Amino acid sequence: MRSIFSFTLSEMREYLVEHGCAKFAADQVYQWLYKHHEIDIDKWTNISKKIKEHFRENISFKLPEVVFHIQSTDGTRKFLLELDDGNTVETVAIPAQGRLTQCISSQVGCAMGCLFCNTGTMGFIRHLTVAEVVGQYMAVTKWVRENGDDPEIRISNLVYMGQGEPLHNFDNMLQATKVFMEEKGLAIGGRKITLSTSGLVPQIKKLNDFPAVNLAVSLHSTFDEKRSQLMPVNDKWGLTKLFEALNSLELREFRFITYEYLLIADFNDRPEDIAGLCRLLDTKSSKINLIPYNEFPGSPYKRPDDEKIEWFKNQLLKKGHVCTTRASKGSDIMAACGQLKSKEDKKNRGDESL
Ligand code: SAH
Ligand code: SF4
Repeated sequence: MRSIFSFTLSEMREYLVEHGCAKFAADQVYQWLYKHHEIDIDKWTNISKKIKEHFRENISFKLPEVVFHIQSTDGTRKFLLELDDGNTVETVAIPAQGRLTQCISSQVGCAMGCLFCNTGTMGFIRHLTVAEVVGQYMAVTKWVRENGDDPEIRISNLVYMGQGEPLHNFDNMLQATKVFMEEKGLAIGGRKITLSTSGLVPQIKKLNDFPAVNLAVSLHSTFDEKRSQLMPVNDKWGLTKLFEALNSLELREFRFITYEYLLIADFNDRPEDIAGLCRLLDTKSSKINLIPYNEFPGSPYKRPDDEKIEWFKNQLLKKGHVCTTRASKGSDIMAACGQLKSKEDKKNRGDESL
């Protein structure tokens, strides 16, 4: 059964017309779902009986189920969502500076196998469907409205930085992005959405077909040898090919690309790494986002001490780069970058307090 959350507005219009219903009703359906967050079809006062009956018989309204939730001391909430086939994914809601950002997963597991990443150790299980990607947003919105302090609360920003490589699931992430951005629906602007990729070159080349969202690239080293040690993807698409692909993109509305740079103690935090970043990235069209390595049980690397992190950042600032350090939130609940892994949480759920 097709999910109601898998339709873009134009698809919903076509679908209704194909089934002998009024085209304009699609806009009303979109409003109920995404403006009023009302998924109880009985409350849809201005929708015809015919459409309701058709939906009841043919369309699923099921959302991923929140089976576990934990809140960090910094306010970050991690959710474990169970999908129809029993697989689970994690998603994280991070409050900061008047915004509420949701970290969205794109796959169950991940095929890229980055050595520093907890999700990478799971291997690839499957892509998420469009409805499951949009469903993460809807399920978490419903949960925080019902269980938090603010019944009107809105998730304002999205980062595709949960489990999975979003560009490996290109078509579904594209379609889900269209749903997120639809003016008559959630109307989340492209500037409030960030897609992060480990560097899948063929899909990067296709990004000109993607709505204009912010782009973040996981760089992590400017030396092929080192990058390959961290990220198997670099064996196939090394730095030269990666930058050829990035340079071929029209930058359109996004003025710069953010380069994520994992800081690992005594690995890529040396003076030559600063020189490498200055050589590879220009100061006008790139931003550098340093991510101090988050350790997890069994993780192979160490995080540099705070002084080193500060030093690394200041060196880049001095050279004229725009450079920020990501305050990885939720590390006490294993919700920070690279710490997400579904299976274990499923096993452990119930052991941690809610
Ligand atoms: N798969 C995408 C997006 C998800 S990960 C990608 O790799 O870009 C979001 C960011 O967290 C990436 O830059 C990723 O490299 C980083 N990350 C992964 N594991 C990490 C860890 N253990 N500590 C800190 N950052 C990590
Ligand atoms: Fe996948 Fe990103 Fe983790 Fe690499 S860092 S394994 S691409 S989720």
